[in-house]
Amino acid sequence: MIPSNYRPSRVVIDLDCVKHNVREEIKRLDESKELFAVVKANGYGHGAVETAQAALDAGASGLCVSNLDEALELRQANINGPILVLGYVNSAYIEIAAKNQITVTATNLEWLKEVNERIQSPISIHLKIDTGMGRIGLRTEEEMLGAKNILDKQPLIDFEGIFTHFSKADSKDESHLNLQQERFSKALDIFGREMKYIHTSNSATALWHGAWESNLVRYGDALYGMNPSGNELESPFELKQALTLETEIIHIKQLEKGEKVGYGATYETSGNEWIGTLPIGYADGLIRRYQGFEVLVSGKKAPIVGRVCMDQCMIRLEEELPVGTKVTIFGHNQERFNSVQSGAEYVGTINYEVTCGLTDRLPRVYR
Ligand code: PLP
Repeated sequence: MIPSNYRPSRVVIDLDCVKHNVREEIKRLDESKELFAVVKANGYGHGAVETAQAALDAGASGLCVSNLDEALELRQANINGPILVLGYVNSAYIEIAAKNQITVTATNLEWLKEVNERIQSPISIHLKIDTGMGRIGLRTEEEMLGAKNILDKQPLIDFEGIFTHFSKADSKDESHLNLQQERFSKALDIFGREMKYIHTSNSATALWHGAWESNLVRYGDALYGMNPSGNELESPFELKQALTLETEIIHIKQLEKGEKVGYGATYETSGNEWIGTLPIGYADGLIRRYQGFEVLVSGKKAPIVGRVCMDQCMIRLEEELPVGTKVTIFGHNQERFNSVQSGAEYVGTINYEVTCGLTDRLPRVYR
C-alpha cells in the first residue's frame, strides 16, 4: 500500500525522543554491555530505517529484526552495523544472510543440521534457548548437546551468541522469570560463556531486572518511549513517546437534536451538536473499538462519535472550528497529551499492537 500523502492524516515521529530513550538506557548499562535497537515490524510502526539510524546515532551498537526481509531492508538503506534476525530464517536462504553480513538465529537442532549441510560461506549465528516462552529455541539437554557438537566442528559457523526471551519480565510476579533464568543458567553450563554475546534482555528485563545475564540488550518497546508493562511497573527514567498520530477536520456541521451519525445510526445527538469529520478510519489502524475515545482538538477533548468507518470518523466538538484544525489522536495538543497506552487500554490491547497496527496508508513524517 502506498502512503496517502494528499491527505492530512499522518504519523509524526520525533527522532529526538528515540535518541533520548536510547541514551537514558545506555547510561544505566555498564561498559561491557551493548544495546541493540529492535526495529522489527517496521520499527513497531515507526519506520525501521529512520528509527534504526536514530538509535545508532544515539549509541546503539546493532539492530534486531524478525526476518530476513527486514534485515535486507536495512542493508539496502546502507545501514552497515550488526543486524541480528531474531526469528526463523529458512536454511535455504543462509547464503543470502551470509553475503549480507546478517546474523541469524538457530531456532532448533534440525535447523542447525540443515545449515551444517548447506553452508558455503562464513556466517554468525546466535543460538536460541526456549526457557519457557514456548515459541522457538532449543529446549532439551539432548538437543543442546547435538547443537554443541555441530557448533564445535563447523568452521564456517561463528557461534557468536546465545540467548533466550523472557515472557514475563514486565510483571510484579517474578516466578516464571525465575524459572526461565534457572533454565538459561543450565544451558550456559552446557555451552560455556566464551561466545561474544549472551543475551536475555528485552526492554522489560533492561528496565526492571538490571539486564540480567546480558551483555547485549534487545531494546524494543522502550526505544519508542512506551512502557512494556503498560502501567504495571514504573519506568526508572522518563520514556518519551516518539509517535504522534494526527489529522485535521475536513468537514464540519451543526446537527439538530435527534440526528444520527455513522453506520448503523448508533449515535444520536442529544441537542444541537457540532460534528467534525476526520479523514482517518479503520483502514489506517484506527479500529472500530475507538468509538468513544477522546481525541484532542485545540487543547480540548473531543469524543469519536458513531462507528469508525474505513476511511473516516466523526468527532463531537464544543464549538464550530475551521476546516483544517489540527486533531491529535496520540501525542501532544497544547497542554494535553494522549499516550499510545491510553489508546491501547481503551481498545483492550497493548501499546505494541497499537503502533504496529497503524497501516502503510499513513505517511511517516520525521522531525
Ligand atoms: N527480543 C525478542 C526475541 C523479541 O521477540 C522482542 C519483541 O517482541 C524483543 C526482544 C523486544 O522486546 P521489547 O519490545 O519488549 O523490548
